[in-house]
Amino acid sequence: MPEHPAPRWSARTLAAQALGHIDEPSRALVPPIHLATTYVRDPDNQYRSGNIYGRPDNPTVREAEAIIAMLEEAASALLFGSGMSAATAVFLALEPGAHVLVPEVMYWGLRAWLLTDARAFGLAVETVDASRPEAIAAALRPGATRLVWLETPANPLWTITDIAAVAAGAHAAGALVAVDSTCATPVFTRPLALGADLVMHAATKYLNGHSDVVAGALVAAREDDLWARIRRVRTMLGQILGPFETHLLIRGMRTLDLRVRTAAAGAMELALRLSNHPAIAAVLYPGLPSHPGHAIAARQMQGGFGAMLSIRPNGGEAAAIATAARVRLWKRATSLGGVESLIEHRGSIEGPGSPCPLDLLRLSVGIEDVEDLYADLDQALRAAGRS
Ligand code: PLP
Repeated sequence: MPEHPAPRWSARTLAAQALGHIDEPSRALVPPIHLATTYVRDPDNQYRSGNIYGRPDNPTVREAEAIIAMLEEAASALLFGSGMSAATAVFLALEPGAHVLVPEVMYWGLRAWLLTDARAFGLAVETVDASRPEAIAAALRPGATRLVWLETPANPLWTITDIAAVAAGAHAAGALVAVDSTCATPVFTRPLALGADLVMHAATKYLNGHSDVVAGALVAAREDDLWARIRRVRTMLGQILGPFETHLLIRGMRTLDLRVRTAAAGAMELALRLSNHPAIAAVLYPGLPSHPGHAIAARQMQGGFGAMLSIRPNGGEAAAIATAARVRLWKRATSLGGVESLIEHRGSIEGPGSPCPLDLLRLSVGIEDVEDLYADLDQALRAAGRS
């Protein structure tokens, strides 16, 4: 009999079946939620199951981690109680005094933590224009820079960073590269394949996709010393995600591909239409040829440009707030990446020092009918213009 090699199923196929794992004792298609905080020792004092206690590890969490590692083509994945706990674990695992480069445009909460708390912990945090790999190269201090943190597309201007170019320069200087790929999602970008060492996701967003779980994930290209220290930070600080939330996250990831592609197609359509809207001064979306990062995004993101965009209505901050006040279908709320579309005046939430213009409205496009989404925005923009 000729031997047939096992087929290599696509990430979409594997995620739809949560890797195809079933619960062997019951033959259940959906594995049970493991709630136990503690596990029984073998009579000879061993823990052959590999399970000891719920703070370092949990079988349901390991199921989700295997799916995330598959999606990112990673050697290992770790789940955390939030995106922030995942991101901060990376910085807490560095040695005091380490020099790190972080983008000028990035998720405001992490920027605030880096510029205050992380500095207090002894990290030398320096911000840099991450849209220019040459600016990062110039800021690298060989032997001292331990990490370059990137976010692409980056909140809330959707700034694009060339991951491969930055990784080449960083590695030559002895620094590692970590990418917050929350808004790119594993559907459109796989940073490890472009040379990154670590990838972070606020799994609260697209990975879960239903606005009902706060979670974070890290993946690593290699299980090296830094990864071991990150795992230790999670264990010692008790940052693991709970099993109920993990179960919801696994369910959400089954439809990741469908949700994200539908939302990104809607975002592209809206960006094109809104670019010609008489009440709008600017549309920021990497899928538009007018976006400064479009050429890199077109190379680096495969199959779509994500589902996040920002608009700057004519009339400044007052017009932006008035527009958000008049939507009926879009929900006025922070966060992103759910199946429902959200609109937010970002200046009201970002702290001092943010590069976010005060007239900016951030749009997280969900999976609703794009005609409905456009009609609702159009009436809100027109009504705000008359007010
Ligand atoms: N990274 C990005 C790009 C985000 O948008 C967010 C949250 O909005 C985070 C990180 C932090 O995630 P969490 O709110 O789950 O801590």
